Amino acid sequence: MGVNQVNGTEMYQAELQNGRIGVEPLLFTQFPVATMATTFSATNSVTDSAAAGTALATGKKTYNSAISVGEDKNPIETVAEKAKKAGKKVGVTTSVSVDHATPAAFYAHQADRNMNYEIAVDLTKANFDFYAGGGFLKPDKTYDKKDAPNIFPIFEEAGYTVARGYSDYKAKSKDAGKMILIQEEGKDPSCLPYAIDRKSDDLTLAQITESAIDFLTKGKNKGFFLMVEGGKIDWACHGNDAATVFNEVKDMDDAIKVAYEFYKKHPKETLIVVTADHETGGIVLGTGKYALNLKALQYQKHSADGLSRRISELRKSKGNKVTWEDMKEFLGEEMGFWKQFPISWEQEKKLRDEFEQSFVRNKVVFAESMYSKSEPMAARAKEVMDQISMVGWVSGGHSAGFVPVFAIGAGSHLFSEKIDNSLMVVTCWYIVEALIISNGVPVTSIAVYSSYSNTLCFNPSIFSMVVISSTCLLSWSL
Ligand SMILES: [Zn+2]
Repeated sequence: MGVNQVNGTEMYQAELQNGRIGVEPLLFTQFPVATMATTFSATNSVTDSAAAGTALATGKKTYNSAISVGEDKNPIETVAEKAKKAGKKVGVTTSVSVDHATPAAFYAHQADRNMNYEIAVDLTKANFDFYAGGGFLKPDKTYDKKDAPNIFPIFEEAGYTVARGYSDYKAKSKDAGKMILIQEEGKDPSCLPYAIDRKSDDLTLAQITESAIDFLTKGKNKGFFLMVEGGKIDWACHGNDAATVFNEVKDMDDAIKVAYEFYKKHPKETLIVVTADHETGGIVLGTGKYALNLKALQYQKHSADGLSRRISELRKSKGNKVTWEDMKEFLGEEMGFWKQFPISWEQEKKLRDEFEQSFVRNKVVFAESMYSKSEPMAARAKEVMDQISMVGWVSGGHSAGFVPVFAIGAGSHLFSEKIDNSLMVVTCWYIVEALIISNGVPVTSIAVYSSYSNTLCFNPSIFSMVVISSTCLLSWSL
């Protein structure tokens, strides 16, 4: 999530109010501290999520695809591990799979982000209190494709209670010592559904955040550290799917609201930091006409992935004999074309040409992006929607653009200057140590780095810190 993903969401929210020009602020953009961060990795100007996650979790830059190991492949201690050692409760959560790069960087140490089985086994070694996400990608296959003991019995032997879905969490949490919360059996373990595609029984990032804080604060509360990742903002950006991106940012804001409610109860002991591991897609707000038409995005009913699934269903339901009239009706319902707003002759031609290709001649070349493979008709419809909304994309990958940093709570003023991603966690830990050293006495004039010589002047007997990121919500309390 770069700065434009955030700004675009706020401008979209404003345009939904009768086309109002301006912004409808998200909660997290109203935090008192806002700055920006650089994200390059040790080996590439453009980072991947593994190297960026490692920088956020350890304060050290590494090569792309490394999971909290250095360039020498040796493990680097993470802030979450330090917190655990210090006797705090620790949670690591995400809207994608628990063994995905960003969450993994907080609890695992592996040379490659694709070592999903090995990463999942590391989860028990870290011995944190709470993990949550969609599920696990490789529950019984090692990186070198060998059969391995299923990880779920391994989790149970290590003392974890596995809850499947939000109601299951509620039923089991009271008696659980350590917990792993994933989706119900049968749902896609790679991720929670996009907010735009969500059904009423789907697990949400807000529910995960609520469960995490509930679990980490039960019993004798000595503070906690929690990382929450809204991982599918990145996925939707890889797919250049603007409507889905803005809905996903809004959904992360809903998860942040849960953390904010906790902060309001413990304002002097809690720090929330919202940031991102990198920008994705090089999104542009305005494609050369000094204008935006984001309100058109409201008529997109599903993500491009969801649209693609529906197009495949349409094929099946019509016995592969879909007419152009059927397709026009379908796109009118799903995207608002013709029904809610007119489209140009060129745009109609683009759709009609694709229809001839993939429905009449049956030459279906699926459009692939990092995390999805979609019907070509869905890809063309999304391109037309980009033209109508005037949103542009530079690539299907990451960029080196600044990411935003928003913070509220104890020590948040230390995030007031431009920062590098590797310094964020150093700053967080510094705040924590300063508070431990101060032992409840107000601390003054503490220099974290030469660029951070601000004054800490609060007096917490207990300290809780919450750090949140677009691809990551980190939360911390002592
Ligand atoms: Zn990505």
